[in-house]
Amino acid sequence: MSRDQYTFVNPAELYSDIEPEKQHMPEPGLDADLTPTADLGEESYRGTGRLTGRKALITGGDSGIGAATAIAFAREGADVALSYLPEEEEDAARIAGILREAGATVAQIPGDLRDPEYCRTLVAEAVGALGGLDILVNNGGKQVYQESLTDITDEQFDDTFKTNVYAMFWITKAALPHLPAGSTIINTTSIQAYSPSGILVDYASTKATINAFTKGLADQLAPKGIRVNAVAPGPIWTPLQPSDGQPQEKLPEFGEDTPLGRMGQPAELAPAYVFLASAESSYVAGETLNVNGGMPTP
Ligand code: NAD
Ligand code: MG
Repeated sequence: MSRDQYTFVNPAELYSDIEPEKQHMPEPGLDADLTPTADLGEESYRGTGRLTGRKALITGGDSGIGAATAIAFAREGADVALSYLPEEEEDAARIAGILREAGATVAQIPGDLRDPEYCRTLVAEAVGALGGLDILVNNGGKQVYQESLTDITDEQFDDTFKTNVYAMFWITKAALPHLPAGSTIINTTSIQAYSPSGILVDYASTKATINAFTKGLADQLAPKGIRVNAVAPGPIWTPLQPSDGQPQEKLPEFGEDTPLGRMGQPAELAPAYVFLASAESSYVAGETLNVNGGMPTP
């Protein structure tokens, strides 16, 4: 391994060469088709036993931020259940292979997060396959831009809220009876929760909801010894973006207006999830950890 996540580097130059060409893929998009390839930490993430013996369920664990988190969790010693859409099997199979190489027990549980029955089955199957559950990462998400509010169909509005908000509610509710004291829940919100783009009104609204859900639930569960936190990514190179997450013509300059001057890679998100999942963050609850290239947040 030439570089790992602890190597001393200039963060502004870490991925300075990446300029994605205009490209488009149908939703949900595949990491396998992403050009250039995203860095999920396959070559660089080095575990040091921070999640030894832990049991994690990660939605959207096939690609992007969820996949980078899954790789990090497995290398830190956790067993991992992955949720994803059936059409993402190619990405999920590759990630599952990397997790098994790290020694993890892996459960692949495909299905649609918009379906409450799937969300409940997902939790039951994850608990069965891993022999319990003590980390839940609600990360699956839908982002489709529309220039005008009048272009957002009722169906899109509903799908975005079902995927980003309802699934988090259904899964967390089903998981709670299984989570022992010490467990951690991490939700994926976004810079969009505080700085909503005009073309992402529905999506940004779900992310603000996720922040409030996280803080309220954190208050409720802290006395029970369960910590709830969120990670708020900035512009990250994942299949979400070229599958109608952004207009194609904006992809080449994606992330250039951040103080670090570039987009982020999924591998740079994983340590935030590891920190919030592990017992080292024992006094951190109801927090939103921003990983966004330096953009100011409230
Ligand atoms: P991604 O496309 O790799 O991951 C999103 C995942 O959501 C998909 O892999 C898919 O498995 C899952 N998903 C979507 N609809 C689903 C459905 N109906 N049923 C089941 N699974 C479904 O992209 P990502 O950027 O890694 O996204 C992960 C999270 O990060 C999302 O919540 C996203 O909103 C958030 N986020 C991303 C960025 C960014 O710039 N990429 C910025 C802020 C927040
Ligand atoms: Mg995917």
